[in-house]
Amino acid sequence: MIVVKIGGAQGVSLDLISQDIASLTQQGQKVVVVHGGSAETNEISEKLGHPARFVTSVSGFSSRYTDRQTLEIFAMVANGRINTLLVECLQKKGVNAFGLCGVDGRVMEAHRKEAIRIVENGKQRMLRDDYTGKIVSVNGVLLKMLIEAGLTPVVAPLAVSPEGDAVNVDADRAAAMVAGAIGAEQLILLTNVPGLMRDFPDEGTLIPHIPRGGLEQALSFAEGRMKKKVLGASEALDQGVTKVIFADGRTAHPLFDAIAGKGTVIS
Ligand code: ADP
Repeated sequence: MIVVKIGGAQGVSLDLISQDIASLTQQGQKVVVVHGGSAETNEISEKLGHPARFVTSVSGFSSRYTDRQTLEIFAMVANGRINTLLVECLQKKGVNAFGLCGVDGRVMEAHRKEAIRIVENGKQRMLRDDYTGKIVSVNGVLLKMLIEAGLTPVVAPLAVSPEGDAVNVDADRAAAMVAGAIGAEQLILLTNVPGLMRDFPDEGTLIPHIPRGGLEQALSFAEGRMKKKVLGASEALDQGVTKVIFADGRTAHPLFDAIAGKGTVIS
């Protein structure tokens, strides 16, 4: 089983990725797709007069501040447009894709961070009313039921809190948790760069392989959201995934290239 996370970055062709997924499923591979949605949510939020607001946590991670209205826009964009169009694209290639998000059937449960400590203008303060969460469990049995029924699950990055609130979760880390829960061998994170670079954006410094023990150092090379991918890789390996690959989603055969070892392979 392979989990593929499709980034929201420009230049990534859903058509070519869907074609690879179709070829893989025809070969008998089982695939689960997880996708993002932040770039498009930013655009739509802006158009709706509720521009995205980003905050930096005390540990240095940048994330979207998700108030209730932002959560609803995120659900509309990620679980609505992006998910449906991805399912449509896969259906056109003959893949019987099944769109869902983590709220459906409680597939992904998350601990909602009701208050987050942020740094603003050099000062720390608490932000309340945030609808983001950290996934604590994924119902692998339910996902495997869909796979065994011949379906290809396509998962949008929303999860449900113990109280039943929908929350926005990080798609890279959601993909890692899904990979762990279904016992996938490989997790492929497709993005708009060839892999992790030691000295971003110099592509000559692409790191082809990172051993498990090298992830901490790898985290220091990653900037911004790339850090989440490194964290996701670490979480996936912790849960028994054999190989995590950061690969270029913009090539003619993104998945076959990744499986052949192009990109950054973490194992
Ligand atoms: P996606 O939307 O595809 O998940 P992100 O924008 O979250 O992708 O993360 C990928 C981005 O991370 C790259 O486009 C690049 O700008 C940035 N990045 C930061 N540090 C690095 C690094 N060391 N190597 C490669 N990319 C990096």
